[in-house]
Amino acid sequence: MTLPAPSPRIAIIGGGPAGLMAAEVLSQAGIAVDLYDAMPSVGRKFLLAGVGGMNITHAEAFPAFVERYRERAGELRPWLEAFDPNALREWIHGLGIDTFVGSSGRVFPRDMKAAPLLRAWLKRLRDSGVQIHTRRRWLGWSEDGRLRVAGPEGENLLAPDATLLALGGG
Ligand SMILES: Cc1cc2nc3c(=O)[nH]c(=O)nc-3n(C[C@H](O)[C@H](O)[C@H](O)COP(=O)(O)OP(=O)(O)OC[C@H]3O[C@@H](n4cnc5c(N)ncnc54)[C@H](O)[C@@H]3O)c2cc1C
Repeated sequence: MTLPAPSPRIAIIGGGPAGLMAAEVLSQAGIAVDLYDAMPSVGRKFLLAGVGGMNITHAEAFPAFVERYRERAGELRPWLEAFDPNALREWIHGLGIDTFVGSSGRVFPRDMKAAPLLRAWLKRLRDSGVQIHTRRRWLGWSEDGRLRVAGPEGENLLAPDATLLALGGG
């Protein structure tokens, strides 16, 4: 009997919107995801963004939108074409959160808050098998190439098949 090949395991370091989106895309591709964050909960800056009314994208015409990225517009255009502001809105609607365009052209979740969006997103990620490990700070690599991750119980060495760093400004 041939056993099915085990699916690769990816470690994502950082549970901000970048790490969470990576977790979603990878888990949808059938890859096992472990996400580690140093903080007691993920998405904390994302929640802060919701305090003053979180805008998620802009409704202006696509060429003008891309030019917001100035000298990196050429590099970012293909990514933004693959997942444009409309796709982002559709993605949020898929989480059960409605959006609207403000008078400035900025796009907001209907209640302008980040918390309901984050809650729905985390539920969907957990339901799809993403394992979220909080209070786990990545310290670097050991000499044999494993990840050094410190948690309340001390330091662990992890050997995922690949690592994706989504540390924000870090
Ligand atoms: C007050 C405020 C208002 C904002 N308003 C908006 C807005 O309206 N619209 C908008 O689009 N954006 C807004 N932003 C910006 C938005 O929050 C950031 O662009 C976004 O959070 C960046 O996401 P990220 O995943 O790259 O990084 P982060 O959200 O910073 O996430 C990085 C994660 O990595 C973790 N991490 C870092 N180092 C380690 C380590 N060594 N080990 C383990 N974990 C680690 C951190 O704990 C963190 O959870 C606002 C930001 C602030 C502060």
